[in-house]
This record gives sequence, structure tokens and C-alpha cells, in this order.
Amino acid sequence: MEISTHDFKNNAKKALKDKNLQIAMKRATKTFVAKREKAISSLDNFEELRSYCGAVKAHTIEHLDYYLEEFISNLENLGVNVHFAADGEEANKIVTQLALEKNVKTVVKAKSMVTEEILLNDALEAVGVEALETDLGEYILQLDGDFPSHIIGPAMHKTKEQITKLFHEKLGSKEDASIIELTAVARKVLRKGFLKADMGISGANFAVAETGSIVLVENEGNIRLTTSLPKIHLTVMGLEKIIPRLKDLPAFLTILPRSATGQKASSYVSLITGPKKETDPDGPEEQHVLIIDNGRSNILADPKLRDALRCIRCGACLNICPVYQNVGGHAYGWVYPGPIGSVLDPGLLGLDSTHQLPQACSLCGACGEVCPVKIPLPELLLEHRQRAVKQGLSAKAEKIGIGAFAFMATHPKLWNSATKIGRLGSQFLSREGHIKGSKIPVMKEWLKERDFKTPAQKSFREQWRNLKDEK
Ligand code: SF4
Repeated sequence: MEISTHDFKNNAKKALKDKNLQIAMKRATKTFVAKREKAISSLDNFEELRSYCGAVKAHTIEHLDYYLEEFISNLENLGVNVHFAADGEEANKIVTQLALEKNVKTVVKAKSMVTEEILLNDALEAVGVEALETDLGEYILQLDGDFPSHIIGPAMHKTKEQITKLFHEKLGSKEDASIIELTAVARKVLRKGFLKADMGISGANFAVAETGSIVLVENEGNIRLTTSLPKIHLTVMGLEKIIPRLKDLPAFLTILPRSATGQKASSYVSLITGPKKETDPDGPEEQHVLIIDNGRSNILADPKLRDALRCIRCGACLNICPVYQNVGGHAYGWVYPGPIGSVLDPGLLGLDSTHQLPQACSLCGACGEVCPVKIPLPELLLEHRQRAVKQGLSAKAEKIGIGAFAFMATHPKLWNSATKIGRLGSQFLSREGHIKGSKIPVMKEWLKERDFKTPAQKSFREQWRNLKDEK
């Protein structure tokens, strides 16, 4: 995957013309939004839970050094090997060295956005280690040489018809296979993969500092197989995944599935607390945890953006976002799309290459309203916009336009004359009460998508004056 966060506008234009994408996005986001609403309506304390979970995450982020130390010390007491990587390159080096040292030939992977972030599969392939994605969505994308467009439903941008065709071409399934048949085909391939894998790599939904537990939430059972069948289990996690205590977990397990997939509970919740013990019938003999920074400490050090690290990656803000619903995840140009992506990506990659993302927002506020940990997403998006302007990153046309507006708006006589001329001029372009077209290319494009009423003949002030005179 090539990062193209700098090219959101062009990516979005292409996405809007992609018929399959449009069908897939409408189907999926509509379902997710409706299911979430139904699931949260079954709780009478959802708002309380949001506040509680938001406060727990905010507290953890404020004291991350303390909780990370506690977590690491508990992991080590359990016999877990702990690694730390400052960036993606170092992380990939640690994983590939580990794989080579342990003579690993095949790895099974559970869905993990952080491994997408560091392009771990490419690094493994480069040293001759085969990595098999076992989440169904991720497996579909791996078959197609594609990458995720959603943090929960990675293949959300594909229609069922496209997947049926892909499976037929790559795996020889029936041309008209049903979803159940397609799943059975994937299951057969993946089962073989689980059995021959030397190492399982997972992410972490939560990491409990108090116990050194890795918590994983899923619906397919593939994570449980990934983390228990191979002899070695490696967790790759961002440093923000920590929660302090085990007793905090139930609240998170109540809000996460409801916000993510609209379920009251996920099918499987695994708590992994150390490798297999002598008395355990199964489980990995060796456990490793790799904690990745990769730009997160920059966000942590920034008091105005720090709240973004509370994210529990439920995807609710993506599903509800009118921009995401229309352009899909690939338009954002990296692994974290939608509102949270537009906040995180500038923090992780820098504003220079990502400043178009916070602009991809109507500031409707829906993302902030659904976020189960109350991240003030609209405020963070505005913060990035302000910084982009201060750093001179906004588009030339925008700078000129806003500059001209500011000048006019602070010179009332000029403003009154210009708006008068504008109102008079607009009458020539008006048809049936609307401006229907323009010779100016930007206006022409703009008007294609919008309904622009002809401005009133008299300004509000003039009308107000007349009204007063009549009285
Ligand atoms: S920002 Fe909030 S709503 Fe969006 S993915 Fe993260 S936790 Fe979910």
C-alpha cells in the first residue's frame, strides 16, 4: 500500500465515480449505523458508560509511563518476552529477526491495524516468511492484493458480487457461490494454514496493566486459533492500548461491540495472561509482546491532540461520517480512515502530507456524538485545520479567497457595494429562481452538485429598514 494521504481530493473524486464502491459503502454503513443504534438502545446507561470509559482512557493516557511500566513488569513476571520499537522499521526488524531465529516459515495473522501501519507482511515476505491473514475480510484483501478500507470491516469497500468473482478466480469456488459457500471455502484454506503455522501474530484490543493480560475481541474464532495453535504467539500493539485494571474491562466490553458491529456482545473474548503453563492442556509455549510507538508519543506530548489516543478502534465514527460513507476508506490514503484517521494520521505522519484530511469534514459533529470514549473529534479536526493554516499549508485559492473575504468583511462600504453588484449580476444568470450554470470553471463544477437559489434583490439590512419604515 502506498501512502496517498496528500492526495485525498483526487482519491475522493475517483471513489465517487466507482459504482461498486458506492453500492458496497451504502449497504455496509447503513447496516452498521442501524445495528449500532438498536444495540445501544438496549442499554439505559450507555451515556454513563461512555463517560466512564472515556475517563478511564484519559486517565491512562495521562499516566501512560506508569501503566506501561506496570504492564511490562507483569508481562515479564509471567514469562513473556517484551520488545519495544520506536518506529515501523525497528518493529519489522524485531519481528523478522525473531521469525528467522525461531526458524519460522509460516505465520498466521489475526486482524491488526498496527501491523498494516508498519507493513509487516511485506517485511516478512522479504525474509521468506509466508504470512497468512486469517480474518475473513483481511483474507479477501490478501487474495486480491488489496488493503483495508475500514478498521473493523477491512473489505467493506467490496460488494458480495466482487468477492464471489475473486473466490471463483483464485480458489475455484462456484461462479454463483452463496456467502455460506464462500466462507466454507475460505475456512478450508485457513484451517490448513493454522495447522502448519509456526507463529501466530495478533494485535490487542486492550492490554491490562494490572495483570499483564492481552484482551482480544472477535466474531470469527480466527484470533483464538491464531493465538493458541502455533507454538509462538506474538502480540503487536500500539502503546495506547493499555487500560489500568481488570475491573475496567467489562465497561469496555459493553460499549465496544455495540459501537463496532452493533452486537450486544462479541462471539469470542480472549484474555491471554502469559504463555502455556505446565498444567495447561494447550496454548503457545512462547509468548512475545511488541509495543510500538511509531509517532504515538508525539501525539501524547501534544496536550491538544492527546485525546485521540483514547480511541478503541470501534469504527463508529467512520460509519456515521457522511464523507466516509461516500468516499470509502481508501480515499484517505492510509490505514486509518474517516474522522479518527483524519485526526490520527496528521499526528502519526505529520501535517505536511495529511493536511487535506481534516478538511474532508462538514463539521456536522456526528462522529463526536457516537464515539464511545467521547473523543472530541470535531474539535481535534478544527485544531489540525488551524495548524495547517498557521503553517501555510492551505491551498492557494483558499488563501486568496479567505483573504479577500476578510478584507471585504472588514470594509463595510466595499462589502455593501460588492454584494449589491453581486445581487444584480446574479439576476442575469438566474433561471426559475436558481443560478443554473456558470462560465467560471470552478463555479460550473460547484453548481453541478448544488442547488443555488438566486440571491434576494434586497439585502437583509435593506429589507429590515423598509419594514421599519412601513411600521
Ligand atoms: S474515535 Fe471513537 S468512534 Fe472513532 S473509532 Fe475511535 S473510539 Fe470509535
